Amino acid sequence: MILVVGGAGYIGSHLVKELIKTKEVVVLDNLSTGHRWAIDKKAIFVQGDLGSEKDLVKVFEKYSIEAVMHFAAFSLVGESMQAPQKYYDNNVGATLTLLRVMRKYNVNKFIFSSTAATYGIPSVDMITEETATNPINPYGRSKLMIEHILADFALSYGLKYVTLRYFNAAGAYETAEIGEDHDPETHLIPIVLEHLLGQREQISVFGTDYETQDGTCIRDYIHVTDLAKAHIVAMQGLLSGQLKAATYNLGNGKGYSVKEVIETCERVTGRRAKVELAERRLGDPARLVALSEKIERELGWKAEIGLEAIIESAWRWHQRKSDTLASQ
Ligand code: UDP
Repeated sequence: MILVVGGAGYIGSHLVKELIKTKEVVVLDNLSTGHRWAIDKKAIFVQGDLGSEKDLVKVFEKYSIEAVMHFAAFSLVGESMQAPQKYYDNNVGATLTLLRVMRKYNVNKFIFSSTAATYGIPSVDMITEETATNPINPYGRSKLMIEHILADFALSYGLKYVTLRYFNAAGAYETAEIGEDHDPETHLIPIVLEHLLGQREQISVFGTDYETQDGTCIRDYIHVTDLAKAHIVAMQGLLSGQLKAATYNLGNGKGYSVKEVIETCERVTGRRAKVELAERRLGDPARLVALSEKIERELGWKAEIGLEAIIESAWRWHQRKSDTLASQ
């Protein structure tokens, strides 16, 4: 049995859909940002808090857990600048509670969702796992703190772990059953698609004076199903004993500017966007693009889905969501 903490959230729910094909899964989620409907019906669901020792003990008492995957974090750069306490309490404090309970029940395999935000403003165009980590916001710092904690726990307590540094997760499940659904939505692709569906007046481009080709920020967009598959190979590596302590980047290796993303959304949907040029958003580095060769070399994983197909899948999901809302 694999415990997926935060399995009702955007990335967690897509992981559960993949994982359930080969493993029994128990999801622990407090549904603060996730959705009950997003959890695959074949998974066991326990509503509870990552930071509650009592809730965790209930799960570890009842189920025989082989490994834990941890998705239950707050993940918005801007919000972390406004509310650092919330980020450190949950992303660091509550994760420590989970690690403590894991030790109590002798569960020593852990897959941790980390982020490109740990790199801060990188000194290189293509970020490898060796690129210096120097986060510039509380979100990135909270994730890096746990990375350090995991390394210490590996040395002292024999924890086996894989840290996955995600770049920009996007796209939706192939059947459009589940997809990105944040409230409020802050991410670029869903915002553009909601606008193109007529659900938003216009879209804002945050910053047009960055040192990039067209002045807008460049990101590396990776399909959420590619991310999910990386977790499966990481889990197999831990369960087989091949991996003990590893950190991998998960990206596509291609950077797209905000303007290019908007243009691709227009092409995919055949609709025109109304774009407003706005001020920079606090905490945004100009460019974050990954080299993910390490995980390809060691575990044979490679991102397969490019930007256009990412947006096509997201578009199917947003249309479906909009139809469902309209029929309610
Ligand atoms: N962005 C934008 N307008 C929006 C939302 C996002 O210009 O309405 C930009 C944002 O400043 C960043 C990029 O799009 O440069 C990706 O932002 P997102 O919030 O999707 O992901 P992040 O990189 O913060 O994880």
